[in-house]
Amino acid sequence: MSDTSDSPFSILQDVFGYPQFRGLQQEIVDHVSGGGDALVLMPTGGGKSLCYQIPAIARQRRGMGVTLVVSPLIALMHDQVGALHELGVEAAFLNSSQTLDEAREVENKLWRGELTCLYAAPERINTPRFLEQLDRLNARGKLALFAIDEAHCVSQWGHDFRPEYRALAMLHERYGNVPRIALTATADALTREDIIERLKLQEARQFISSFDRPNIRYRLVEKTDAKKQLLRFIQDEHEGEAGIVYCQSRKKVEELAEWLSAQDIPALPYHAGMPAAQRQQHQDRFLREEGLVMTATIAFGMGIDKPDVRFVAHLDLPKNIEGYYQETGRAGRDGGAADAWMAYGLSDVVNQRRMIDESPAADEYKQVMRGKLDALLTLAEAADCRRVRLLAYFGEQAGPCGNCDNCLQPPATWDATDAARKVLSCVYRVQQHSGISFGAGHILDILRGKTTDKVTQFGHENLSTFGIGADLGEVQWRGVLRQLIALGALEIDAEAFNTLRLAGPARAILKGEETLFMRVSEKAPAGGRTRRSTGGTGSGTARKADHEAGLDADGLRRYQALKAWRAEVAREHNLPAYVIFQNATLAAVAQDDPRDLDALASIPGMGEKKLAAYGDEVLRVSASA
Ligand code: ADP
Ligand code: ZN
Repeated sequence: MSDTSDSPFSILQDVFGYPQFRGLQQEIVDHVSGGGDALVLMPTGGGKSLCYQIPAIARQRRGMGVTLVVSPLIALMHDQVGALHELGVEAAFLNSSQTLDEAREVENKLWRGELTCLYAAPERINTPRFLEQLDRLNARGKLALFAIDEAHCVSQWGHDFRPEYRALAMLHERYGNVPRIALTATADALTREDIIERLKLQEARQFISSFDRPNIRYRLVEKTDAKKQLLRFIQDEHEGEAGIVYCQSRKKVEELAEWLSAQDIPALPYHAGMPAAQRQQHQDRFLREEGLVMTATIAFGMGIDKPDVRFVAHLDLPKNIEGYYQETGRAGRDGGAADAWMAYGLSDVVNQRRMIDESPAADEYKQVMRGKLDALLTLAEAADCRRVRLLAYFGEQAGPCGNCDNCLQPPATWDATDAARKVLSCVYRVQQHSGISFGAGHILDILRGKTTDKVTQFGHENLSTFGIGADLGEVQWRGVLRQLIALGALEIDAEAFNTLRLAGPARAILKGEETLFMRVSEKAPAGGRTRRSTGGTGSGTARKADHEAGLDADGLRRYQALKAWRAEVAREHNLPAYVIFQNATLAAVAQDDPRDLDALASIPGMGEKKLAAYGDEVLRVSASA
């Protein structure tokens, strides 16, 4: 038995049952197992957990003691620890959800050297009692490694700043002999520098993976009737599948869950204003049941490792590209086809700008936030490959991907120079005429020559720009406005009722020094439907079949039987089904139809512990299906 092997590769095979490392995993695992410090940047679903779990097992087997995993994800620790138990790895957590007795029990195990991984929240680590325990472990040489998960939480430039993370620099000062690995899926340069500085990781080796998630299809559509667009997207492409829908406000989250449920799409809300118990319950149901849609604020999702989330939808504009990428990254962790779908409109842009302007933050900070929002707007208005732009934002170069809306259906562009000048001169004239600025709606009315009450009240029908934009429709004009805002030629003044004023490149555009090409706004109010490049019908079933694709009728029967059996086990253990076995593993069993434990052992995802615990059952269920 290789149970005592401390080589990372045999741990990968024996404990996890995986035949090989992915991407940079091997280099990282070797470096950290050998005592090196590391900063790991990998996209969501890239396989970060193995990067600290394997060194933790290796170092424990070498007699070096426990790995402390720092994580802000209290609500997920139970499942994370359960997943390690299923693999036969001794693990526990310490957090505020436990009784004193439970915490004592964990501390005893820690002291007896029985744990390979201990999960704890940063606020726990900063307590004198806990530090004293670490001191004692360290004095005996039984502190093997610090793993700092979600490391971007230390940075205020990241999107999940947690002040408690700042104190973690102390781990290095106090236990300089213990190696550290910090991991994050947030990677823009500013945040990265900040993580290194704040956690004192200057000496750590950096491992930066490609951030591409090729199986995710990016689609950004113009918002017309957001709810209906969403409904159509789900019904047409993801019926019966798990997904997350992000909205900005708690109220909207709740209303949407109710509305979707009424449309026969099972949905649950999640936001930080809900009672903790209910939040946990909804999260658990999302992880444990199949085909639930979670409507949520950004409070939901960090650390959610459900592999078969088939879509992430945004009904409101995120704050920046990091947030967008992080949120969309929760789709398709199993590598199967998944959608990142967003509906956005002019009002989103105005809202986000206002939120930044009205926030109590320092000016320097607001400036950075505005820049980040602009980058997202530029992405949204882009007519070329979304992935190329996303990856460029993270410092990566790529060619057109063939798996985003713009690649699949290149949007038409038009020379909008003239239209842009009309808008800008209208904004200018109105300001000049009335001495005050006006909002987007009023500017559009003037351009299009509408004699509204407000127009007559201010005498704006007499302006030379009144009616000069009658040639274009409302949708197109809104598109021009959005793109001018994205370009920085128009600014929204939140302190003056979201009025528009000229800025940045406006002057050059007005003078005719710049030519602007813009994507043609969609005229059809129908949902953001795009045709499938694969020749599929675009129906959910075509995509759902991922794991079932290669299975014949017998195989499909075995697969269904195995899934039903797995659901039972998961319920008994109070864990999500994918923690017992992932779909890919069950599908491989159904396909190969192994007849004995030896044959079963070669299926990916079938580690030694799982083989011993479930092997006979799996063979029996598969054979009798
Ligand atoms: P991250 O934490 O980076 O978001 P995870 O660690 O949860 O990603 O890994 C994502 C998925 O990939 C998990 O289902 C995990 O079991 C799987 N995985 C990771 N590494 C490997 C590997 N070397 N071989 C097969 N599957 C892997
Ligand atoms: Zn593309």
